[in-house]
Amino acid sequence: MIETGEFDFESRLVSPQVIAEDSEIDYSLRPKTLSEYIGQTKVKENMAVYIEAAKKRGEPLDHVLLYGPPGLGKTTLSGIIAHEMGVNIRVTSGPAIEKKGDLASLLTSLQPGDVLFIDEIHRLSHAIEEVLYPALEDLAIDIIIGNGPAARSIRIDLPKFTLIGATTRSGQLSAPLRDRFGIIQRLELYSTEDLAEIITRSAVILGVALDRDAAVEMASRSRGTPRIANRFLKRVRDYADVMGDGRITRDIAKIALDRMEVDDLGLDSLDKRMLLTIIKGYGGGPVGLETLASAIGEESVTLEDVCEPFLMQLGFLARTPRGRCATDLAYRHFGLKRSGDDDGGQTSLL
Ligand code: ADP
Repeated sequence: MIETGEFDFESRLVSPQVIAEDSEIDYSLRPKTLSEYIGQTKVKENMAVYIEAAKKRGEPLDHVLLYGPPGLGKTTLSGIIAHEMGVNIRVTSGPAIEKKGDLASLLTSLQPGDVLFIDEIHRLSHAIEEVLYPALEDLAIDIIIGNGPAARSIRIDLPKFTLIGATTRSGQLSAPLRDRFGIIQRLELYSTEDLAEIITRSAVILGVALDRDAAVEMASRSRGTPRIANRFLKRVRDYADVMGDGRITRDIAKIALDRMEVDDLGLDSLDKRMLLTIIKGYGGGPVGLETLASAIGEESVTLEDVCEPFLMQLGFLARTPRGRCATDLAYRHFGLKRSGDDDGGQTSLL
C-alpha cells in the first residue's frame, strides 16, 4: 500500500471508484429496470412517479441531478430511467467534454426525448456550461462558423431531451447549473441487508453458489457501496474455486476478506490513517480537511469523497464548521482514550 503521494486506487480493494477489473462484470450486473434496482427506496419511489407522469403527458422527463458518493448506482439509475422512458441514453462525463464542439456534437445527435447523461458534471468548465444553458432553456445552441470578421453565428434547434447529471459533490456545482435541474435526488450509502441482496442477485447472474450468511459477511464489509460488494463477490469466488468446490460459504468469505486486509467494518489502511492522524496528530480534532490531507499525504478530494461518507455513517467521524473530529466511537474502535480522559471518552458526552 502506498504511504504518501497520490493514492493508488488500483491497489485499494475497497475503493468505490471504478478500478480496471470492474468493467468486465459491471455491465452484466447492472440492473436494467427500476424493480431490479435494490434499495434507495425513496429515490426509486420518486423517480417512478416522475417517469409515469412524464410518460402520461407524452413529454420527456425533467432534467435530473443525482448526487452521492461514487459506486452507489448513479450511472445505473440513469440507464434505468432511459430504459423506463423508452428512450436512448448518451453517456459522457464532465472531464471528457473539453471543447464546446464536443458538447455541440453530442447535443445535435440526440433524438427527441433522449437522455444525455453527464457523469462528474461538477467538472464541466465554465465555457461548456455556457453552451449548456441555452440548450436546456431554449432548446438551441449557437455555433460560430469561421474566423475573424467573416465569423458568423448560426443557431441550431435541438429536440426536447433530458439531461441527467451525476456528481459526488453537489456543493461544487455552480448555482445557475443546479437551478436548471427540476429533479434533484440524493443517493445514500446502502444498508447491509440491501447489499446482501445485491450480492445474492449478482451471484445468480454470475452462476455462483452462495450461502446467505456469506452474502451478509461480504455485505457488512462493503462500506455501503454496491460497486465494492460486487468486487468482493468476484474476488471471493476465486477463493471458493481454489479452496473448496466453488460454493461461497461464510468461512471462505471470511478467510478471503481477511486475506484482502479488509477489516470487519470494511475499513482499510487509508481510513485508519485518516482517523489515527486526527486522534494522534490533532488531539481528536477539529482539524481542517486541507491540513489533514497534507499530513496524510493524500488529496483532500479523496478523503472527502471516499473516506468521509463511510466514516460518518459508522459514526467515527464528525464534520464541524471548525474541521473534522474523531468521535468517541472511533477512539473505542482503536482501543484509545482521549488525553485527560479516564473513561474512554464518556465525559465529553455528559
Ligand atoms: P456510480 O455511477 O454511482 O459510481 P454505478 O451506477 O456505476 O455507480 O454502480 C456501480 C455498480 O454497482 C454497477 O455496476 C451495478 O452493478 C451496481 N449497483 C449499483 N446500484 C445498484 C442497485 N441499486 N442494485 C443493484 N446493483 C447496483
